[in-house]
Amino acid sequence: MGLGRVMTKIDPEEQWKLLIGGEWVETAGTYPVQNPYTMEIVGHAPEASLSEATDAMAAARDALGDWKNTSIDQRCYLLGKLADVLEQKAPEWVDLVQAETGSTINITETLQVAGGFIDRFRYYSKPQRIDLSELPVKQGATALGPAGLLAASVYHQPVGVVLCITPYNFPLTNVAGKIAPALAMGNTCIIKPAPQDPLGILRLGEAINEAGFPPGVINIVTSSGPEVPAAMVASKDVNMISFTGSTSVGKSIYESGASTMTRVLMELGGKGALIMTEDASIDGAMGAIASVWGFHSGQICTAPTRVICHRNIYDQTVETLEAVAGMLKIGDPLERDTLVGPLISEQQRDNVEKFISSGVESGAKLVCGGERPDEQGYFVAPTLLADCTTDMHVVREEAFGPVVVVMPHEDDEEAIAMANDSDYGLFSYVYAGDTARAHQIAKSLESGNVALNSIQPHMEAPFGGFKMSGIGRDRGTWGLKAYSEIQAISWLA
Ligand code: NAD
Repeated sequence: MGLGRVMTKIDPEEQWKLLIGGEWVETAGTYPVQNPYTMEIVGHAPEASLSEATDAMAAARDALGDWKNTSIDQRCYLLGKLADVLEQKAPEWVDLVQAETGSTINITETLQVAGGFIDRFRYYSKPQRIDLSELPVKQGATALGPAGLLAASVYHQPVGVVLCITPYNFPLTNVAGKIAPALAMGNTCIIKPAPQDPLGILRLGEAINEAGFPPGVINIVTSSGPEVPAAMVASKDVNMISFTGSTSVGKSIYESGASTMTRVLMELGGKGALIMTEDASIDGAMGAIASVWGFHSGQICTAPTRVICHRNIYDQTVETLEAVAGMLKIGDPLERDTLVGPLISEQQRDNVEKFISSGVESGAKLVCGGERPDEQGYFVAPTLLADCTTDMHVVREEAFGPVVVVMPHEDDEEAIAMANDSDYGLFSYVYAGDTARAHQIAKSLESGNVALNSIQPHMEAPFGGFKMSGIGRDRGTWGLKAYSEIQAISWLA
Protein backbone atom coordinates (compact mmCIF):
# COMPACT_ATOMS: atom_id res chain seq x y z
CA MET A 1 0.00 0.00 0.00
CA GLY A 2 1.21 3.52 -0.74
CA LEU A 3 1.91 6.13 1.91
CA GLY A 4 0.64 8.91 -0.31
CA ARG A 5 2.49 11.77 -1.89
CA VAL A 6 3.78 15.02 -0.47
CA MET A 7 4.12 17.27 -3.54
CA THR A 8 7.74 18.35 -3.70
CA LYS A 9 9.41 20.74 -6.09
CA ILE A 10 12.32 19.15 -7.95
CA ASP A 11 15.37 21.39 -8.17
CA PRO A 12 17.40 20.38 -11.25
CA GLU A 13 20.30 22.41 -9.85
CA GLU A 14 20.44 20.54 -6.54
CA GLN A 15 23.96 19.39 -5.82
CA TRP A 16 24.02 15.62 -5.36
CA LYS A 17 26.96 13.86 -3.71
CA LEU A 18 28.27 10.35 -3.09
CA LEU A 19 27.89 8.75 0.33
CA ILE A 20 31.28 7.40 1.46
CA GLY A 21 32.15 6.56 5.06
CA GLY A 22 29.10 8.45 6.34
CA GLU A 23 30.16 11.70 4.60
CA TRP A 24 28.73 13.38 1.51
CA VAL A 25 31.50 13.61 -1.06
CA GLU A 26 31.41 16.08 -3.95
CA THR A 27 32.64 14.71 -7.29
CA ALA A 28 34.55 16.58 -9.99
CA GLY A 29 32.03 15.55 -12.63
CA THR A 30 28.31 14.90 -12.95
CA TYR A 31 25.98 13.45 -15.59
CA PRO A 32 22.37 14.36 -16.42
CA VAL A 33 19.37 12.31 -15.31
CA GLN A 34 16.45 12.71 -17.71
CA ASN A 35 12.69 12.49 -17.17
CA PRO A 36 11.64 9.95 -19.85
CA TYR A 37 8.23 11.62 -20.28
CA THR A 38 8.96 15.35 -20.28
CA MET A 39 12.56 14.84 -21.43
CA GLU A 40 13.59 17.52 -18.97
CA ILE A 41 16.65 17.17 -16.76
CA VAL A 42 15.67 15.98 -13.29
CA GLY A 43 19.13 16.52 -11.83
CA HIS A 44 22.84 15.96 -12.27
CA ALA A 45 24.09 12.78 -10.61
CA PRO A 46 27.62 12.51 -9.25
CA GLU A 47 30.08 10.86 -11.66
CA ALA A 48 32.29 8.82 -9.33
CA SER A 49 35.95 8.39 -10.18
CA LEU A 50 37.88 5.15 -9.69
CA SER A 51 39.57 6.75 -6.70
CA GLU A 52 36.19 7.53 -5.07
CA ALA A 53 35.08 3.95 -5.74
CA THR A 54 38.25 2.76 -4.00
CA ASP A 55 37.47 5.05 -1.06
CA ALA A 56 33.97 3.54 -0.81
CA MET A 57 35.38 0.01 -0.75
CA ALA A 58 37.90 1.04 1.94
CA ALA A 59 35.15 2.67 4.02
CA ALA A 60 33.03 -0.49 3.82
CA ARG A 61 36.06 -2.60 4.81
CA ASP A 62 36.90 -0.31 7.77
CA ALA A 63 33.33 -0.48 9.04
CA LEU A 64 33.06 -4.26 8.69
CA GLY A 65 34.87 -5.37 11.88
CA ASP A 66 32.65 -3.45 14.29
CA TRP A 67 29.44 -3.96 12.31
CA LYS A 68 29.68 -7.74 12.11
CA ASN A 69 30.40 -7.89 15.84
CA THR A 70 27.39 -5.72 16.65
CA SER A 71 24.55 -7.87 17.99
CA ILE A 72 21.90 -8.93 15.50
CA ASP A 73 19.34 -7.16 17.72
CA GLN A 74 21.17 -3.85 17.31
CA ARG A 75 21.54 -4.28 13.56
CA CYS A 76 17.85 -5.11 13.24
CA TYR A 77 16.93 -2.18 15.49
CA LEU A 78 18.67 0.18 13.03
CA LEU A 79 16.83 -1.43 10.09
CA GLY A 80 13.57 -0.79 11.95
CA LYS A 81 14.58 2.82 12.58
CA LEU A 82 15.34 3.19 8.90
CA ALA A 83 11.86 1.86 8.05
CA ASP A 84 10.39 4.46 10.46
CA VAL A 85 12.36 7.29 8.82
CA LEU A 86 11.31 6.08 5.38
CA GLU A 87 7.63 6.00 6.29
CA GLN A 88 7.95 9.68 7.16
CA LYS A 89 10.23 10.80 4.33
CA ALA A 90 9.34 8.61 1.35
CA PRO A 91 6.11 10.46 0.45
CA GLU A 92 8.34 13.50 -0.21
CA TRP A 93 10.32 11.48 -2.76
CA VAL A 94 7.37 10.48 -4.94
CA ASP A 95 7.81 13.35 -7.41
CA LEU A 96 11.57 12.85 -7.73
CA VAL A 97 11.36 9.08 -8.22
CA GLN A 98 8.41 9.42 -10.59
CA ALA A 99 10.35 11.94 -12.68
CA GLU A 100 13.53 9.89 -12.97
CA THR A 101 11.84 6.50 -13.56
CA GLY A 102 8.91 7.71 -15.68
CA SER A 103 6.66 5.22 -13.89
CA THR A 104 3.01 6.13 -13.50
CA ILE A 105 2.04 7.99 -10.37
CA ASN A 106 0.06 5.01 -9.04
CA ILE A 107 3.00 2.62 -9.46
CA THR A 108 5.39 5.18 -8.00
CA GLU A 109 3.29 5.75 -4.89
CA THR A 110 2.50 2.11 -4.22
CA LEU A 111 5.57 0.22 -5.42
CA GLN A 112 8.50 2.55 -6.07
CA VAL A 113 8.61 4.46 -2.77
CA ALA A 114 6.41 2.24 -0.59
CA GLY A 115 5.30 -1.39 -0.62
CA GLY A 116 8.21 -3.76 -1.12
CA PHE A 117 10.74 -0.98 -0.63
CA ILE A 118 9.94 -0.15 3.00
CA ASP A 119 8.50 -3.59 3.78
CA ARG A 120 11.88 -5.20 3.19
CA PHE A 121 13.57 -3.06 5.83
CA ARG A 122 10.67 -3.80 8.18
CA TYR A 123 10.82 -7.54 7.46
CA TYR A 124 14.55 -7.82 8.19
CA SER A 125 14.24 -5.60 11.28
CA LYS A 126 12.92 -8.67 13.12
CA PRO A 127 15.88 -10.74 14.29
CA GLN A 128 15.73 -14.21 12.77
CA ARG A 129 17.87 -17.09 13.97
CA ILE A 130 18.97 -19.22 11.05
CA ASP A 131 21.86 -21.02 12.74
CA LEU A 132 21.42 -24.76 13.31
CA SER A 133 22.58 -27.52 15.60
CA GLU A 134 23.07 -30.93 14.04
CA LEU A 135 21.95 -33.87 16.18
CA PRO A 136 24.89 -35.75 17.68
CA VAL A 137 26.04 -38.72 15.59
CA LYS A 138 27.77 -41.84 16.84
CA GLN A 139 31.41 -41.84 15.82
CA GLY A 140 33.39 -45.07 15.94
CA ALA A 141 37.09 -45.09 16.86
CA THR A 142 39.33 -44.36 13.86
CA ALA A 143 42.99 -43.63 13.28
CA LEU A 144 42.03 -39.98 13.82
CA GLY A 145 40.70 -40.41 17.36
CA PRO A 146 38.58 -42.29 19.89
CA ALA A 147 34.88 -43.21 19.60
CA GLY A 148 32.21 -40.89 20.99
CA LEU A 149 29.29 -38.68 20.15
CA LEU A 150 30.05 -36.01 17.55
CA ALA A 151 27.95 -32.84 17.76
CA ALA A 152 27.98 -29.85 15.40
CA SER A 153 26.71 -26.30 15.17
CA VAL A 154 26.19 -24.58 11.84
CA TYR A 155 26.64 -20.82 11.82
CA HIS A 156 25.86 -18.26 9.16
CA GLN A 157 28.69 -15.72 9.14
CA PRO A 158 28.65 -12.48 7.16
CA VAL A 159 30.47 -12.65 3.83
CA GLY A 160 32.10 -9.23 4.23
CA VAL A 161 31.91 -6.25 1.88
CA VAL A 162 28.96 -6.66 -0.50
CA LEU A 163 28.77 -4.69 -3.74
CA CYS A 164 25.09 -4.25 -4.68
CA ILE A 165 24.63 -3.42 -8.38
CA THR A 166 21.03 -2.74 -9.35
CA PRO A 167 18.87 -2.16 -12.47
CA TYR A 168 16.76 0.85 -13.36
CA ASN A 169 13.20 -0.47 -13.22
CA PHE A 170 12.47 -0.31 -9.46
CA PRO A 171 15.56 1.43 -8.09
CA LEU A 172 14.63 1.68 -4.41
CA THR A 173 12.95 -1.72 -4.12
CA ASN A 174 15.86 -3.46 -5.82
CA VAL A 175 18.36 -1.84 -3.45
CA ALA A 176 16.24 -2.54 -0.35
CA GLY A 177 15.94 -6.21 -1.32
CA LYS A 178 19.72 -6.45 -1.21
CA ILE A 179 20.94 -4.21 1.59
CA ALA A 180 18.25 -5.13 4.17
CA PRO A 181 19.20 -8.85 4.42
CA ALA A 182 22.91 -8.12 3.83
CA LEU A 183 23.03 -5.64 6.73
CA ALA A 184 20.96 -7.85 9.02
CA MET A 185 23.56 -10.61 8.46
CA GLY A 186 26.41 -8.25 9.46
CA ASN A 187 27.82 -7.35 6.04
CA THR A 188 28.71 -3.83 4.95
CA CYS A 189 27.53 -2.56 1.57
CA ILE A 190 28.37 -0.41 -1.39
CA ILE A 191 25.35 0.47 -3.52
CA LYS A 192 25.94 1.09 -7.23
CA PRO A 193 22.51 2.04 -8.58
CA ALA A 194 21.54 2.07 -12.26
CA PRO A 195 22.74 5.21 -14.04
CA GLN A 196 19.29 6.18 -15.34
CA ASP A 197 17.57 6.86 -11.97
CA PRO A 198 19.99 7.10 -9.02
CA LEU A 199 18.62 10.22 -7.29
CA GLY A 200 16.04 8.46 -5.09
CA ILE A 201 18.87 6.20 -3.90
CA LEU A 202 20.85 9.27 -2.82
CA ARG A 203 17.77 10.38 -0.85
CA LEU A 204 17.83 6.91 0.74
CA GLY A 205 21.41 7.73 1.79
CA GLU A 206 20.08 10.73 3.74
CA ALA A 207 17.58 8.46 5.51
CA ILE A 208 20.35 5.95 6.28
CA ASN A 209 22.38 8.67 8.02
CA GLU A 210 19.29 9.91 9.87
CA ALA A 211 18.53 6.40 11.13
CA GLY A 212 21.98 6.34 12.72
CA PHE A 213 23.89 3.63 10.86
CA PRO A 214 27.61 3.80 11.67
CA PRO A 215 29.74 5.51 8.99
CA GLY A 216 30.86 3.21 6.17
CA VAL A 217 28.27 0.50 6.78
CA ILE A 218 26.39 1.66 3.66
CA ASN A 219 28.08 3.63 0.88
CA ILE A 220 26.62 4.90 -2.39
CA VAL A 221 28.61 5.29 -5.60
CA THR A 222 26.89 6.54 -8.76
CA SER A 223 28.33 6.51 -12.27
CA SER A 224 27.03 6.74 -15.82
CA GLY A 225 29.21 4.06 -17.44
CA PRO A 226 30.37 0.51 -16.73
CA GLU A 227 34.04 1.35 -15.91
CA VAL A 228 33.57 2.15 -12.20
CA PRO A 229 31.32 -0.84 -11.33
CA ALA A 230 33.51 -3.13 -13.45
CA ALA A 231 36.60 -2.02 -11.50
CA MET A 232 34.83 -2.65 -8.19
CA VAL A 233 33.70 -6.08 -9.39
CA ALA A 234 37.33 -7.01 -10.16
CA SER A 235 38.65 -5.70 -6.83
CA LYS A 236 39.85 -7.99 -4.04
CA ASP A 237 38.29 -5.52 -1.62
CA VAL A 238 34.83 -6.83 -2.47
CA ASN A 239 33.81 -10.21 -1.02
CA MET A 240 30.43 -10.58 -2.68
CA ILE A 241 28.59 -9.11 -5.63
CA SER A 242 24.85 -9.00 -5.44
CA PHE A 243 23.77 -8.18 -8.96
CA THR A 244 20.37 -7.63 -10.48
CA GLY A 245 20.30 -6.79 -14.17
CA SER A 246 20.66 -8.26 -17.63
CA THR A 247 22.09 -11.70 -18.27
CA SER A 248 24.80 -10.26 -20.54
CA VAL A 249 26.18 -7.97 -17.81
CA GLY A 250 25.72 -10.77 -15.26
CA LYS A 251 27.92 -13.04 -17.36
CA SER A 252 30.74 -10.48 -17.49
CA ILE A 253 30.52 -9.96 -13.72
CA TYR A 254 30.62 -13.71 -13.06
CA GLU A 255 33.71 -14.08 -15.26
CA SER A 256 35.44 -11.10 -13.73
CA GLY A 257 34.84 -12.26 -10.14
CA ALA A 258 36.05 -15.80 -10.85
CA SER A 259 39.75 -15.14 -10.28
CA THR A 260 39.08 -13.97 -6.71
CA MET A 261 36.26 -16.49 -6.02
CA THR A 262 34.08 -13.52 -5.20
CA ARG A 263 30.69 -14.76 -4.02
CA VAL A 264 27.80 -13.91 -6.32
CA LEU A 265 24.05 -13.59 -6.12
CA MET A 266 22.73 -13.12 -9.64
CA GLU A 267 19.18 -12.03 -10.40
CA LEU A 268 19.13 -11.83 -14.19
CA GLY A 269 16.81 -11.65 -17.18
CA GLY A 270 13.59 -13.55 -17.74
CA LYS A 271 11.13 -14.51 -20.46
CA GLY A 272 8.19 -15.58 -18.34
CA ALA A 273 6.04 -18.31 -19.86
CA LEU A 274 2.31 -18.27 -19.13
CA ILE A 275 0.63 -21.58 -19.97
CA MET A 276 -3.14 -21.59 -20.48
CA THR A 277 -4.79 -25.02 -20.56
CA GLU A 278 -8.01 -25.51 -22.56
CA ASP A 279 -10.12 -25.04 -19.40
CA ALA A 280 -8.26 -21.91 -18.17
CA SER A 281 -10.27 -18.82 -17.33
CA ILE A 282 -9.48 -16.42 -20.16
CA ASP A 283 -10.69 -13.50 -18.03
CA GLY A 284 -8.46 -14.63 -15.16
CA ALA A 285 -5.38 -14.83 -17.36
CA MET A 286 -6.14 -11.52 -19.08
CA GLY A 287 -5.21 -9.38 -16.05
CA ALA A 288 -1.91 -11.23 -15.71
CA ILE A 289 -0.97 -10.90 -19.37
CA ALA A 290 -2.09 -7.27 -19.60
CA SER A 291 0.31 -6.48 -16.76
CA VAL A 292 3.09 -6.75 -19.38
CA TRP A 293 1.61 -3.61 -20.89
CA GLY A 294 0.14 -1.78 -17.93
CA PHE A 295 2.65 -2.49 -15.16
CA HIS A 296 5.64 -0.19 -15.65
CA SER A 297 5.32 -0.79 -19.40
CA GLY A 298 6.71 -4.31 -19.18
CA GLN A 299 10.00 -3.26 -17.61
CA ILE A 300 9.72 -6.19 -15.21
CA CYS A 301 11.92 -9.28 -15.19
CA THR A 302 9.08 -11.52 -14.01
CA ALA A 303 6.49 -10.40 -16.59
CA PRO A 304 4.51 -13.16 -18.36
CA THR A 305 5.60 -12.09 -21.83
CA ARG A 306 5.42 -15.52 -23.50
CA VAL A 307 1.86 -16.84 -23.65
CA ILE A 308 1.51 -20.53 -24.51
CA CYS A 309 -2.20 -21.00 -25.05
CA HIS A 310 -4.23 -24.16 -25.78
CA ARG A 311 -5.39 -24.20 -29.40
CA ASN A 312 -9.09 -24.53 -28.42
CA ILE A 313 -9.06 -21.11 -26.72
CA TYR A 314 -6.27 -19.53 -28.78
CA ASP A 315 -8.37 -17.33 -31.12
CA GLN A 316 -10.57 -16.10 -28.30
CA THR A 317 -7.51 -15.30 -26.16
CA VAL A 318 -5.84 -13.32 -28.96
CA GLU A 319 -9.08 -11.39 -29.65
CA THR A 320 -9.58 -10.61 -25.97
CA LEU A 321 -5.97 -9.49 -25.59
CA GLU A 322 -6.30 -7.17 -28.58
CA ALA A 323 -9.43 -5.64 -27.06
CA VAL A 324 -7.76 -5.19 -23.66
CA ALA A 325 -4.67 -3.57 -25.22
CA GLY A 326 -6.91 -1.01 -26.89
CA MET A 327 -8.45 -0.03 -23.55
CA LEU A 328 -5.21 0.88 -21.77
CA LYS A 329 -4.62 4.60 -21.54
CA ILE A 330 -1.19 5.68 -22.74
CA GLY A 331 0.09 9.10 -21.75
CA ASP A 332 1.12 11.47 -19.00
CA PRO A 333 2.31 9.26 -16.12
CA LEU A 334 1.13 11.88 -13.63
CA GLU A 335 -2.52 11.43 -14.67
CA ARG A 336 -4.23 8.95 -12.36
CA ASP A 337 -5.93 6.96 -15.13
CA THR A 338 -2.77 6.47 -17.20
CA LEU A 339 -1.75 2.83 -17.31
CA VAL A 340 1.04 2.81 -19.87
CA GLY A 341 3.89 5.21 -19.20
CA PRO A 342 7.12 5.73 -21.15
CA LEU A 343 10.12 3.43 -21.26
CA ILE A 344 13.18 4.63 -19.39
CA SER A 345 15.16 6.06 -22.31
CA GLU A 346 15.42 6.67 -26.02
CA GLN A 347 17.86 3.75 -26.22
CA GLN A 348 15.41 1.38 -24.54
CA ARG A 349 12.61 2.51 -26.87
CA ASP A 350 14.89 1.87 -29.88
CA ASN A 351 15.74 -1.59 -28.54
CA VAL A 352 12.08 -2.48 -28.12
CA GLU A 353 11.12 -1.12 -31.55
CA LYS A 354 13.87 -3.18 -33.21
CA PHE A 355 12.72 -6.21 -31.22
CA ILE A 356 9.15 -5.84 -32.55
CA SER A 357 10.37 -5.39 -36.14
CA SER A 358 12.45 -8.54 -35.88
CA GLY A 359 9.33 -10.45 -34.81
CA VAL A 360 7.36 -9.25 -37.82
CA GLU A 361 10.28 -10.01 -40.16
CA SER A 362 10.49 -13.55 -38.80
CA GLY A 363 6.80 -14.18 -39.53
CA ALA A 364 4.93 -13.24 -36.32
CA LYS A 365 1.53 -11.60 -36.82
CA LEU A 366 1.40 -8.04 -35.43
CA VAL A 367 -2.07 -8.00 -33.86
CA CYS A 368 -1.73 -4.57 -32.27
CA GLY A 369 0.85 -2.01 -31.21
CA GLY A 370 4.25 -1.72 -32.76
CA GLU A 371 3.77 1.92 -33.64
CA ARG A 372 5.11 4.93 -31.75
CA PRO A 373 2.17 6.65 -29.98
CA ASP A 374 1.63 10.31 -30.73
CA GLU A 375 2.96 11.41 -27.34
CA GLN A 376 6.03 13.14 -26.03
CA GLY A 377 8.30 10.71 -24.17
CA TYR A 378 9.80 7.32 -24.94
CA PHE A 379 6.58 5.36 -25.48
CA VAL A 380 5.94 2.04 -27.16
CA ALA A 381 2.27 1.09 -27.56
CA PRO A 382 1.08 -2.19 -26.00
CA THR A 383 2.13 -4.74 -28.59
CA LEU A 384 0.83 -8.24 -29.30
CA LEU A 385 2.63 -10.66 -31.63
CA ALA A 386 0.62 -13.81 -32.41
CA ASP A 387 1.33 -17.08 -34.26
CA CYS A 388 4.89 -17.09 -32.95
CA THR A 389 7.20 -20.11 -32.88
CA THR A 390 9.86 -21.03 -30.32
CA ASP A 391 12.73 -20.41 -32.74
CA MET A 392 11.92 -16.70 -33.15
CA HIS A 393 14.15 -14.08 -31.50
CA VAL A 394 11.05 -12.41 -30.02
CA VAL A 395 10.19 -15.66 -28.25
CA ARG A 396 13.72 -16.44 -27.09
CA GLU A 397 14.84 -13.00 -25.85
CA GLU A 398 13.38 -10.47 -23.44
CA ALA A 399 12.14 -7.11 -24.71
CA PHE A 400 11.91 -5.40 -21.31
CA GLY A 401 9.03 -3.44 -22.76
CA PRO A 402 5.27 -3.79 -23.41
CA VAL A 403 5.46 -6.74 -25.81
CA VAL A 404 3.54 -10.04 -25.51
CA VAL A 405 4.12 -13.04 -27.80
CA VAL A 406 1.50 -15.80 -28.17
CA MET A 407 1.88 -19.38 -29.37
CA PRO A 408 -0.69 -22.21 -29.57
CA HIS A 409 -0.18 -25.66 -28.03
CA GLU A 410 -2.05 -28.98 -28.32
CA ASP A 411 -1.59 -30.59 -24.89
CA ASP A 412 0.17 -30.18 -21.54
CA GLU A 413 3.25 -32.07 -22.69
CA GLU A 414 3.78 -29.77 -25.65
CA ALA A 415 3.12 -26.68 -23.52
CA ILE A 416 5.77 -27.77 -21.01
CA ALA A 417 8.30 -28.48 -23.78
CA MET A 418 7.66 -25.05 -25.33
CA ALA A 419 7.97 -23.29 -21.97
CA ASN A 420 11.25 -25.08 -21.23
CA ASP A 421 12.67 -24.35 -24.67
CA SER A 422 14.29 -21.19 -23.35
CA ASP A 423 17.63 -20.09 -21.92
CA TYR A 424 15.73 -18.31 -19.16
CA GLY A 425 13.90 -19.74 -16.14
CA LEU A 426 12.92 -16.96 -13.75
CA PHE A 427 9.16 -16.77 -13.29
CA SER A 428 6.42 -18.76 -15.05
CA TYR A 429 2.68 -18.95 -14.69
CA VAL A 430 0.07 -21.67 -15.20
CA TYR A 431 -3.61 -20.88 -15.72
CA ALA A 432 -5.78 -24.01 -15.56
CA GLY A 433 -9.31 -24.87 -14.45
CA ASP A 434 -7.92 -27.34 -11.95
CA THR A 435 -5.20 -26.33 -9.47
CA ALA A 436 -3.93 -29.90 -9.12
CA ARG A 437 -3.26 -30.05 -12.87
CA ALA A 438 -1.66 -26.60 -12.77
CA HIS A 439 0.56 -27.79 -9.92
CA GLN A 440 1.56 -30.89 -11.91
CA ILE A 441 2.51 -28.76 -14.92
CA ALA A 442 4.43 -26.33 -12.66
CA LYS A 443 6.64 -29.09 -11.30
CA SER A 444 7.84 -29.87 -14.84
CA LEU A 445 8.80 -26.29 -15.60
CA GLU A 446 12.45 -25.24 -15.49
CA SER A 447 11.67 -22.06 -13.61
CA GLY A 448 12.71 -20.77 -10.19
CA ASN A 449 9.20 -19.56 -9.45
CA VAL A 450 5.82 -20.63 -10.80
CA ALA A 451 2.54 -18.95 -9.88
CA LEU A 452 -0.77 -20.78 -10.39
CA ASN A 453 -3.85 -18.87 -11.55
CA SER A 454 -2.32 -15.73 -10.09
CA ILE A 455 0.41 -13.24 -10.77
CA GLN A 456 1.11 -12.21 -7.19
CA PRO A 457 4.60 -13.10 -5.98
CA HIS A 458 4.96 -14.60 -2.51
CA MET A 459 7.37 -12.17 -0.87
CA GLU A 460 8.80 -14.68 1.61
CA ALA A 461 9.22 -17.59 -0.80
CA PRO A 462 12.71 -17.99 -2.31
CA PHE A 463 13.16 -15.89 -5.43
CA GLY A 464 15.64 -16.53 -8.22
CA GLY A 465 16.21 -18.18 -11.54
CA PHE A 466 17.04 -21.48 -13.22
CA LYS A 467 19.47 -21.49 -16.14
CA MET A 468 20.56 -18.07 -17.49
CA SER A 469 18.15 -16.26 -15.15
CA GLY A 470 20.58 -16.31 -12.29
CA ILE A 471 22.40 -17.98 -9.43
CA GLY A 472 21.15 -18.16 -5.85
CA ARG A 473 17.95 -17.18 -4.09
CA ASP A 474 16.86 -14.29 -1.90
CA ARG A 475 13.74 -13.04 -0.06
CA GLY A 476 12.58 -14.21 3.38
CA THR A 477 15.12 -16.24 5.33
CA TRP A 478 16.66 -17.20 1.97
CA GLY A 479 17.89 -13.61 1.77
CA LEU A 480 19.79 -13.98 5.04
CA LYS A 481 21.37 -17.22 3.84
CA ALA A 482 22.30 -15.64 0.51
CA TYR A 483 24.44 -13.02 2.28
CA SER A 484 26.27 -15.49 4.52
CA GLU A 485 29.14 -17.94 4.55
CA ILE A 486 28.25 -21.20 6.26
CA GLN A 487 30.55 -22.43 8.99
CA ALA A 488 30.29 -25.79 10.79
CA ILE A 489 31.92 -26.29 14.20
CA SER A 490 31.98 -29.87 15.52
CA TRP A 491 33.18 -31.43 18.75
CA LEU A 492 33.39 -34.81 20.39
CA ALA A 493 30.90 -34.90 23.23
P1 NAD B 1 21.82 -3.76 -17.01
O1 NAD B 1 22.37 -5.13 -16.93
O2 NAD B 1 22.05 -2.98 -18.23
O3 NAD B 1 22.40 -2.86 -15.80
C1 NAD B 1 22.28 -3.28 -14.46
C2 NAD B 1 23.37 -2.63 -13.62
O4 NAD B 1 24.65 -3.12 -14.04
C3 NAD B 1 23.46 -1.11 -13.73
O5 NAD B 1 23.66 -0.58 -12.44
C4 NAD B 1 24.66 -0.90 -14.61
O6 NAD B 1 25.29 0.35 -14.39
C5 NAD B 1 25.56 -2.04 -14.16
N1 NAD B 1 26.61 -2.44 -15.11
C6 NAD B 1 26.60 -2.30 -16.46
N2 NAD B 1 27.74 -2.83 -16.97
C7 NAD B 1 28.48 -3.29 -15.93
C8 NAD B 1 29.73 -3.96 -15.81
N3 NAD B 1 30.47 -4.24 -16.88
N4 NAD B 1 30.15 -4.31 -14.59
C9 NAD B 1 29.41 -4.06 -13.49
N5 NAD B 1 28.20 -3.44 -13.53
C10 NAD B 1 27.74 -3.06 -14.74
O7 NAD B 1 20.25 -3.89 -16.68
P2 NAD B 1 19.10 -2.78 -16.75
O8 NAD B 1 18.91 -2.37 -18.16
O9 NAD B 1 19.32 -1.74 -15.70
O10 NAD B 1 17.84 -3.64 -16.25
C11 NAD B 1 17.15 -4.51 -17.09
C12 NAD B 1 17.60 -5.94 -16.90
O11 NAD B 1 17.54 -6.31 -15.53
C13 NAD B 1 16.69 -6.92 -17.61
O12 NAD B 1 17.48 -7.90 -18.23
C14 NAD B 1 15.85 -7.53 -16.49
O13 NAD B 1 15.34 -8.79 -16.77
C15 NAD B 1 16.85 -7.54 -15.38
N6 NAD B 1 16.18 -7.58 -14.07
C16 NAD B 1 16.22 -8.74 -13.36
C17 NAD B 1 15.57 -8.82 -12.13
C18 NAD B 1 15.58 -10.09 -11.32
O14 NAD B 1 15.24 -10.04 -10.15
N7 NAD B 1 15.95 -11.23 -11.89
C19 NAD B 1 14.90 -7.70 -11.62
C20 NAD B 1 14.89 -6.53 -12.37
C21 NAD B 1 15.54 -6.47 -13.59
